[in-house]
Amino acid sequence: MRVLLTGVAGFLGSHLAERLLREGHEVVGVDNLSTGQTRNLKRLGRHPHFTFLRADVSKPLEVAGPLDWVLHFASPASPPRYLRLPIETLLVNAEGTRHLLDLSLRKGARFFLASTSEVYGDPLVHPQPESYWGNVNPVGPRSIYDEGKRYAEALTLAYHRAHGLSVRIVRIFNTYGPFMDPEDGRVVSSFIVQALRGEPLTVYGDGSQTRSFCYVDDLIEGLRRLMEVDYPYPVNLGNPEEYRVLDLALLVKELTGSPSPIVFRPLPEDDPRQRRPDISLARELLGWEPKVAVREGLRRTLDHFREVLDGAS
Ligand code: NAD
Ligand code: UDP
Repeated sequence: MRVLLTGVAGFLGSHLAERLLREGHEVVGVDNLSTGQTRNLKRLGRHPHFTFLRADVSKPLEVAGPLDWVLHFASPASPPRYLRLPIETLLVNAEGTRHLLDLSLRKGARFFLASTSEVYGDPLVHPQPESYWGNVNPVGPRSIYDEGKRYAEALTLAYHRAHGLSVRIVRIFNTYGPFMDPEDGRVVSSFIVQALRGEPLTVYGDGSQTRSFCYVDDLIEGLRRLMEVDYPYPVNLGNPEEYRVLDLALLVKELTGSPSPIVFRPLPEDDPRQRRPDISLARELLGWEPKVAVREGLRRTLDHFREVLDGAS
């Protein structure tokens, strides 16, 4: 297959590209490097079937040659980053999605959208099945991401219904692992880096809010399986292992043996209280479920961050 993958310099994009290249496919990666890392591109640059195009996909994109898939992963994803890039985040999910859907039509390619559990907002149903419509503040600070992704999902299904385009939509729940950006402010990387540096672990609010954490290899396996089935509606992928944020901080301290104290900082506005995927659909449709428990995944991630931080010092 020849695959166009946007957001290739990012955490998930680089893992997915690596998996596709390993399977022998050709990957044309696109990124504007707004939140991505050049070291991810260096990693991919070793593969002979990888090419990189630096471009902002919020603008129309022309790509030479045939394409079997357009995989749209470009978007800031860490809350501090998307809050700093509000208009860019809306545009890459709105205009970017539109241009990539048009490109898919022109090329006769299938289209794959990386959506998010954030479409459920601050959920009133727990755990969250795909049939839940969510509880999103449409004008709060996070709306640029939540509503951007909700629009992207609606547009993707509109192209499917209006043009018969073959589409997939994945709602990704908090995913972590090697090659996360140590500085992008997401909770797993932040706690690990803080613990390894002996700095205080910053828990927002009282830490009673919950998230469910999926190891990246499990997620990538789910994405690949979703590419193989003909199902246009959203599918949740995530690990139902749910943690209070304070307990995650304690676990990171235990696994690192770090003496870092825990400090409490204000809870960001509209921070969801609870989140856990209902993955019944993924189990049934894809025969998929996560294999890597959080403790094990954190150990593997820690090993990676130790190397990165050693390399930087
Ligand atoms: P990331 O920030 O590491 O990667 C995103 C990549 O997109 C970056 O390399 C960035 O430079 C690129 N990008 C952003 N805007 C662009 C633009 N206009 N043009 C070209 N490139 C652009 O984030 P990630 O964690 O790898 O997330 C990838 C996708 O998965 C995103 O769409 C995100 O919303 C979705 N997602 C991720 C998670 C998660 O836990 N990691 C959860 C839910 C959804
Ligand atoms: N969080 C925290 N300390 C940090 C970073 C995040 O307590 O240094 C909290 C954040 O408020 C949220 C949870 O951890 O409740 C997950 O945050 P993240 O930014 O990783 O992703 P989100 O699920 O909010 O998009």
